[in-house]
Amino acid sequence: MLVVGAGVAGLTAARQMRRRGIDVAVLEWDLQAGGNAQGGVVQGQPCPLGAHYLPQPGSSLPELQDLLIELGAAERGLGGWQAREAWQVHAPAERLYDQGAWHAGLLPIPGDSKTRAEYRLFAAQVREAMRQGFVLPTHRAPFQAMHASLDATTFSVWLSAQSLLDPGLRWYLDYCCRDDYGAGADEVSAWAGLQYFASRHGFHVPGDPGDDDDPQASQPPVLTAPDGNAWLVRGLSAPLAGAIHLQRLVWRVDEERHGVIAQVLGPDGAETWHARHLVMAVPLFVAQRLLRGPHAALKSVQLARAPWLVANLALSAPLSNRLGAPPAWDNVMRDSPTLGYVNARHQTLDPRPGPQVLTLYWALPAAERARLLQDSARTWAQRVIDTLRPTHPDLPEHLQAVRLTRWGHAMAVPRPGVRREVAQGALAALRQSGGRVRFAHADLAGYSVFEEAFYAGWQAAEALIG
Ligand SMILES: Cc1cc2nc3c(=O)[nH]c(=O)nc-3n(C[C@H](O)[C@H](O)[C@H](O)COP(=O)(O)OP(=O)(O)OC[C@H]3O[C@@H](n4cnc5c(N)ncnc54)[C@H](O)[C@@H]3O)c2cc1C
Repeated sequence: MLVVGAGVAGLTAARQMRRRGIDVAVLEWDLQAGGNAQGGVVQGQPCPLGAHYLPQPGSSLPELQDLLIELGAAERGLGGWQAREAWQVHAPAERLYDQGAWHAGLLPIPGDSKTRAEYRLFAAQVREAMRQGFVLPTHRAPFQAMHASLDATTFSVWLSAQSLLDPGLRWYLDYCCRDDYGAGADEVSAWAGLQYFASRHGFHVPGDPGDDDDPQASQPPVLTAPDGNAWLVRGLSAPLAGAIHLQRLVWRVDEERHGVIAQVLGPDGAETWHARHLVMAVPLFVAQRLLRGPHAALKSVQLARAPWLVANLALSAPLSNRLGAPPAWDNVMRDSPTLGYVNARHQTLDPRPGPQVLTLYWALPAAERARLLQDSARTWAQRVIDTLRPTHPDLPEHLQAVRLTRWGHAMAVPRPGVRREVAQGALAALRQSGGRVRFAHADLAGYSVFEEAFYAGWQAAEALIG
C-alpha cells in the first residue's frame, strides 16, 4: 500500500494499516513528516512551524480519544475520557491587548447590559446549533435544512440578520474565523462560524454563572506542547519506522486495472513505485495535478485557500509586560492584522525567566499569496516586528533570530456552499470513492483542523482494510 503525503491524514492512514499488518510505504516530498502540523527548533528551543493546538475531542470522535490514550496524553477512568494535565494548556491560556492594556481571555468583557444581551443571544444560538447536530468530524454530523440555510450565507450577513452587531463581539467572532479558517466572517459561511463553537466547547458569556449541565459553561483547556501539534505527529509516526520516505516528490499517479503506479522524484533521481492501492493524502489541488484518469469529482473540486505566515521569534529574555493581565500562552492584539503569538516556553514547567521563542500567526488574504512568496525574508520579518512593536517596544533589543515559514496554500476556506459539497457534492463523492485510489486529507471536510485530517486518514484506511 502506498500513501502519498506524510501529513496528519497520511500518517493516520499508514499507521492504521501497519497496525493491521499491511505493508505500507509513505512518500513525502518534505524534509520531515507532519505537513502543516510540523514543528521545529529555533535557537535550541522547540516551537511550532504550523498547527499549535488540539481541542479536547468529544465522544463523536472516539478514535481520536483512543489515540490520545495510546500516546499517554489521556486516560479513561470512572469519570470517562480525560486528558492528562501535562498536555492541557497551562493557565493563563489567553489574553487580549485592547485599548492600551492586556485583559484576561480573548472575548472583550461586555461593558454594558446591551452588549451582555447580545453575548447571551449568540450563546443561545450556539446552544440551539449544538442541539441540531454540529459535531467533529463533519462527516458524522447531519445535513438538514438548518445546516443548508446556514451554509448558503456568510457568517457576517447571518450575524447582522440576528441583530448581533456589538463591535467587541463581532471582532471576536471574526478573529475566531481567521484563527481557524484563515478567513474572516465576511468570507466564511454562517455554518462555519457556528461550527467553530457548536462542534466543540460552545460559547460562554464571561461572568455569567455556569450551569452544571451546560457544556458551554466551562471550556476544557486545549492540548498543546512547546512545538505545537508536532508531538501528535511524532506519536503517529512512531509505529511507521522505516516506512516514511522523505524527499520523495510524487509528480504523477496512474490508476491501472491491476494496480497503481507513482512517478517520483527522489533524492537520487527518478523512482517508480508500484502498489495495489494508494492513499492520496495531499491537498486536493495537488491531487488534481497528480492523478491521471477519470476522476470527475476530483476535477470539479474548487476550494479557496488561505495563505499563512508563521514567524518564530527567538528572544534572549522575556519581553517586559505592559499594563494588565500577565503573559499567557496565546497573546492577541485587537488592532493587529495578525492572529497574535503563542509562547512555546509556556508549557515548560521551568518558572525561571530565560530565552524564549514566540510563534506569531498571520493569516493573509488570498490576494497576498504572491507577495508572501516574492517578498524577501527580511521584508516579512520587518513587517512582523512592526506589527508587534506598538505592544512590545522592547522587542528589537531582545530579538536574536527570526524563522519564517510561508504556507502558500495553508488551508481550505469554508465559504458558503462548501458544507453542501461535503454532504452531497464532489467532496462527498471523493470521500466515498472506491477503486484503487482513496483520498485522505482535511480538504475533504472543506476546512482544515487536526480532527478532520485525522478522521480522513482513519476512514481511508478502514475502507481499504475492509
Ligand atoms: C499555520 C497553520 C496553523 C494551524 N493551526 C492549527 C491548530 O492549531 N489546530 C488544528 O487543529 N489545526 C491547525 N491547522 C490545520 C492543521 O494543521 C491541518 O488541518 C492538518 O495538519 C492537515 O493535515 P493533512 O494531512 O490533511 O494535510 P497536510 O498537512 O497538507 O499534509 C499533506 C502532506 O502531503 C505532502 N505533499 C504534498 N504534495 C506532495 C507530493 N506531490 N509528493 C509527496 N508529498 C506531497 C505535504 O508536504 C504534506 O506533508 C493549522 C494549519 C496551518 C497551516
